[in-house]
Amino acid sequence: MKTVRFSDGTTVPALGMGSWNIGDSTAGKAEEIASLRAGLDRGLKVIDTAEMYGNGRSERLVGEAISNRRSDVFLVSKVLPSNATFNGTIQSCQASLKRLGTDHLDLYLLHWQGGVPLTETVEAFETLIEKGLIRRWGVSNFDTEDMQDLESVASDCTANQILYNLEARGVDYDLLARDRAAGIVTMAYSPLGQGGDLLTSPVLAEIAREHETAAGPATPAQIALAWTLRDANILSIPKAGTLRHLQENIAALSITLRDIDIARIDAHFPPPRRKTSLEMI
Ligand code: NDP
Repeated sequence: MKTVRFSDGTTVPALGMGSWNIGDSTAGKAEEIASLRAGLDRGLKVIDTAEMYGNGRSERLVGEAISNRRSDVFLVSKVLPSNATFNGTIQSCQASLKRLGTDHLDLYLLHWQGGVPLTETVEAFETLIEKGLIRRWGVSNFDTEDMQDLESVASDCTANQILYNLEARGVDYDLLARDRAAGIVTMAYSPLGQGGDLLTSPVLAEIAREHETAAGPATPAQIALAWTLRDANILSIPKAGTLRHLQENIAALSITLRDIDIARIDAHFPPPRRKTSLEMI
C-alpha cells in the first residue's frame, strides 16, 4: 500500500477517510459507520474530522466508528479559527476528544487562518502536545505566503490540508513543492471534487476504461484519486458514505497512471502557468 511519511518518521497509508457531512442523517448513519470500519479493516488508518462538521455530529459518529479500536486509527481533527485563542484551542481540543471518545488526537489542525495571532494558536498546540492530548499539529487552507508567516513563528508544523483535485490544481505551481521541501505533508481534501462534474469527465472515463482493477475496469473517481496519489507527499482524504465507494477508493491505491494518462489529463485539466491564490471550500 502507498504510504506517506510525517517528519517524525510516522508513516500512514496515503489514502485516508474524510468525514464532512457524515452523521447528518439518521438514515445513512449505519452505513457511514460501516464504511469507516471497513476502511480500517482493509488497512486504512487516517480519519479526518473537525469540530465544525455538523457542529460535532461528525466527531460523534467517528467516535462510534472507532470505539474499541482506537489503536487502528490515525485521528485528525481541526479547531475553528474563531476558537483558536490559547484557551479556546485547549477547550476545543478537549471537547473534540470527548465527542470522539478518545484521550488523544494524532494530528490537530487549525482549520483556516483567522484573526488570532498564529503564535497564540501554536503555543496552545505545543501545550496540548506536552499534555499528551495531541501527538502533532498542522494547518489547513494555508497558501504559500501563509506558510511563510507560519515559518517565522514555528518550525514544527507537520501537515497542510488543502483543496486539491483536477479542477483545483493551482497549488501544483508552488505550494506542493514548498510543503514537500519543508517536510510538511500535504493532505488533499475534496479529491473527488465533492462527487460533482469532475466525475463525469469523458477524459477520466476514457482513461478509466484502460485500467483494470480486481472489480473490473476502473471508474473516473478512481482515476481522479490515483492522480492525487501520484505524489508521494500527498495524503488524499476522500469521503465515502457507502461501502461501494469505500471499496472503489481503496482499489484506486493500486492504480498507477502512465505518462500517456498524465499527458491526457494535463491536456484537459492544464497545470497552472502562474501563481493563483489557493482556493478553499
Ligand atoms: P470528496 O471530494 O471526498 O467527495 C465526496 C463525495 O464523493 C461524496 O458525495 C461521495 O458520495 C462521493 N464519492 C466518494 N467516493 C466515490 C466513488 N468512488 N465514486 C463516486 N463518488 C464517490 O469531497 P469532500 O468535500 O467530502 O472532501 C473529503 C474530505 O476532506 C471531507 O470529508 C473532509 O474530511 C475534508 N475537507 C476538509 C476541508 C478543509 O477546509 N480542511 C474542506 C472540505 C473537505 P458518498 O458519500 O455517497 O459515498
